Amino acid sequence: MNSARHFQTLMGDGCLHVRAIMAVILLASVFPVDLFPNAPHEIQGADGQYSGKQGQVLLVQVRAGSRAADVTGRFLGRTIPFFTAPDGRSDMVVGLLGIDMQDKPGMHELMVEVHKRDATRRLSYNVLVLKETYPIQHLTLPSEKVDLDEENLVRVKTEQERVKTVLQGVSRERYWDGPFVEPVQGEVAGAFGRTRVINGQARSPHNGEDISAPLGTPVVAMNDGIARLTVDHFFSGKGVFVDHGLGLYSMYFHLSEVLVQDGEAVKQGQAIGRVGATGRATGPHLHLGVRLNGARVNPYSLVNLPLNDVQQVAR
Ligand SMILES: [Zn+2]
Repeated sequence: MNSARHFQTLMGDGCLHVRAIMAVILLASVFPVDLFPNAPHEIQGADGQYSGKQGQVLLVQVRAGSRAADVTGRFLGRTIPFFTAPDGRSDMVVGLLGIDMQDKPGMHELMVEVHKRDATRRLSYNVLVLKETYPIQHLTLPSEKVDLDEENLVRVKTEQERVKTVLQGVSRERYWDGPFVEPVQGEVAGAFGRTRVINGQARSPHNGEDISAPLGTPVVAMNDGIARLTVDHFFSGKGVFVDHGLGLYSMYFHLSEVLVQDGEAVKQGQAIGRVGATGRATGPHLHLGVRLNGARVNPYSLVNLPLNDVQQVAR
């Protein structure tokens, strides 16, 4: 008898609990945003859809509804800053979304928060990531050419840490304006995303594009920015990292000569270095990389972005 009553009490508590949950669910459906300010958007993808391949840059446009709005997006754990469309329309904001070369194909959510003085509005977009096919290259090399000695291992690690820190910096100002240009005219290898399998061991994918050009050819900045870091690194040789603002960086490696200094403002088309074969390079070429809010993207996707047409696209 005792145990039966005990059981009933438990059931009673349980039912109360269920009723409380039901009440919360009902309230939540009536006040979806205000009740749970940190809850995910009600219906994923309700505000639109985008699609692109791995390594692609997407132009995303959001109607913010007011000039004073501060708009930020989140995509696969990365922050996407938005800026006012250059057509002067006050309520449209634009963001560059980078799909990393190794983002998982499939549907992912781009969550956008529109912050105004007194309220935050949440928007949800579906982003369909399509698989890109990357070349695989098998190489057999003598191991002394592949394995680094202790000293170089330490050097490479230090250099990687430095680069990582610099690329994590997000300048709040947008320095670039209009379309991005090719930094050098030459033979494009199509090496973005290529995986090298050396002596049976897969290396990390090639995160930029290689452009062959004669030794000494001027390399120009893809757009306005700040030469955030100049280096002479073990793998990349002499290089320049240009900060275009809002988390966008272009990188120029294997240069024979660097023509700018750390912190120097650069203009689109300005020579910032010369083609070379410094670092680990088999011949003169430019390794061009682009990092967008942490995503490794194809530099030519940035070049091909219709940024002149932002006005039209923004409606
Ligand atoms: Zn390369």
